[in-house]
Amino acid sequence: MLKGKTAIVTGSTSGIGLGIAEAFAEAGANVALNSYTDRPEDHALAEKLAADHGVKVNFISADMSKGADCVALVEKAAEQLGPVQMLVNNAGIQHVEAIETFPPEKWDAIMAINLSSSFHTIRTAVPGMKKAGWGRIVNIASAHGLTASPFKSAYVSAKHGLVGLTKTVALELAEFGVTCNAICPGYVMTPLVEGQIEDQMKAHDMDREQVIRDVMLERQPTKQFVAVDEMGATALFLCSDHASQITGTTISVDGGWTAL
Ligand code: NAD
Repeated sequence: MLKGKTAIVTGSTSGIGLGIAEAFAEAGANVALNSYTDRPEDHALAEKLAADHGVKVNFISADMSKGADCVALVEKAAEQLGPVQMLVNNAGIQHVEAIETFPPEKWDAIMAINLSSSFHTIRTAVPGMKKAGWGRIVNIASAHGLTASPFKSAYVSAKHGLVGLTKTVALELAEFGVTCNAICPGYVMTPLVEGQIEDQMKAHDMDREQVIRDVMLERQPTKQFVAVDEMGATALFLCSDHASQITGTTISVDGGWTAL
């Protein structure tokens, strides 16, 4: 489906980003994997994806908290893999603390990685997409791009901002064959989330089932985590030709969270 096209997935050495990168590689796209690290295992991961799916996959180190690195990521991906037609802005971090003690440096980091990085990558990638007359921008927001929770001021603000950026970019590119949408996941089962289950079991003195149902998935009516491959499939659909008229919107993959 995506044979010969090039995709960038930011923050893609683990979790949702890796799942989306795998889905794209499986569909025949060349993929730029990214993280702020530059470890042998990052490059090995790219080599394995390439070998598994018979596509080009390069790991490009870039710190999404830095504007210049965001620009360099898009430029290097185009040089190494060909014109970038799909951009998935996925890198993100979290910090949970009350507003009055929320560290300003954490606010700045979350704004930079979860919001401003998408501004920098999008503005760099758009000229090439316009020239090609085809492009897909997928921003990984969150149910917290549409609703709030206490103690997540920076994250909720950044994700709401990302939804606003998504709509604006979609309008600007509407006549150029380029779509821009946001996926708003609820709780997705990633290695990071898996690690939190154990901690929550201790903190609440509950068993695994109880922690998942009553604490972690309290707001997720299906009481099931979203699977990483479901995120990959949603991103893939948004990048298909069938999604050409879906732009400037949010797609919730949240087990009913935002219906409450
Ligand atoms: P994760 O921690 O497993 O992966 C995050 C990725 O981002 C990693 O590859 C990490 O190396 C990278 N990253 C972090 N800081 C970076 C930086 N400065 N520069 C470049 N890369 C950086 O997280 P995840 O759960 O897979 O989350 C991915 C995205 O999905 C995030 O934007 C997150 O807010 C969003 N999200 C996750 C969930 C969930 O339940 N897991 C729910 C809603 C939204």
